Amino acid sequence: MTDCLFCKMVSGDITPDTVYEDDQVLAFRDLNPQAPLHVLVIPKQHVSTLNDLNDSNEQLAGHLLAVAAKIAAQEGYADSGYRTVMNCNADGGQTVFHPHLHLFAGRKMQWPAG
Ligand code: 5GP
Ligand code: ZN
Repeated sequence: MTDCLFCKMVSGDITPDTVYEDDQVLAFRDLNPQAPLHVLVIPKQHVSTLNDLNDSNEQLAGHLLAVAAKIAAQEGYADSGYRTVMNCNADGGQTVFHPHLHLFAGRKMQWPAG
């Protein structure tokens, strides 16, 4: 998708602050961090929302979580804790329509989420 911001990061047209990459996913620091660690983990394949991660590619959804856990450990937050969030569509607060798993760490998270 040429007009998708996150696809431009996958293609290299835009260079994010990458913290992890493999053949399926890219992870980079959020431009507007909401915690001392705020990383976005995205599939390299373009789909629009979590609604598009279904039975045909559910392995990918699991991989996004596994990568987030790996990054949290690499950054030293495995024991203190962290939060993962995936927003979907308007009521979920999604603003970039390429799925992305937020990884937050480094501060005490509030619950319930706002
Ligand atoms: P959403 O609201 O869709 O769940 O999250 C989109 C996220 O993308 C936001 O946290 C926002 O700060 C981040 N973001 C938007 N544009 C850019 C960008 O150009 N670079 C990076 N690294 N993050 C971005
Ligand atoms: Zn995309």
